[in-house]
Amino acid sequence: MNLILFGPPAAGKGTQAKRLVEERGFVQLSTGDMLRAARASGSELGERVAQIMDEGSLVSDEIVIALIDEQLEVQAGAPGFIFDGFPRTVGQAEALDRLLESRGEAVNRVIRILVDDDKLLSRVTQRFEEQGRKDDNPETFSKRLEKYYEDTAPLVPIYAERGILVEVDVMLHPAVFRVLQGNLDGVADAGAEHRPRHLVVEGPVAVLAAVV
Ligand code: AMP
Repeated sequence: MNLILFGPPAAGKGTQAKRLVEERGFVQLSTGDMLRAARASGSELGERVAQIMDEGSLVSDEIVIALIDEQLEVQAGAPGFIFDGFPRTVGQAEALDRLLESRGEAVNRVIRILVDDDKLLSRVTQRFEEQGRKDDNPETFSKRLEKYYEDTAPLVPIYAERGILVEVDVMLHPAVFRVLQGNLDGVADAGAEHRPRHLVVEGPVAVLAAVV
């Protein structure tokens, strides 16, 4: 299973990915986390990307594609991959298709997390206070959001056309709940290893668990 968690920065992709990792043993591949780790290690790569990240721009396709390629190799045999914060450009999406195709695989599902911009801003303000990530300050965040709409949002129709896009609007709790209930019936006969253990509706993860 190759799953893309798609959405604007601070939509909660990382949180949902971590919970899916716990529930299903999938491997989370977050290019943001990889780049932050590179910075923390003081590596040459970290130094090269630091400024780009701090100003809210996108690191080059070449760098992030190489990171993903490496991890797909290192983690070969994992029951599934969750791509979190990747792909972010059409070039990255094409590269991901090629990387997976060379392994006899493909992107199976894209879960798009929809969150209002206002809500994103309040979430990121809170994260900035809690984690102190430089690129979460309101000014840089606006730039990141702008990059999302410019470079990343164009991927939506591409995946929609393939019929693999699922949209979850976290603002619509009643709708989320209906989707969840519908899916609960559907998963009743699924194998135990694929049955979500915690189905609590407090965000999209329950729906994700039910549709994956
Ligand atoms: P994230 O934690 O996913 O929001 O990523 C933090 C920052 O890392 C982004 O604002 C970019 O500067 C950089 N970054 C992460 N993933 C990518 C990607 N797929 N392509 C380009 N830059 C990325």
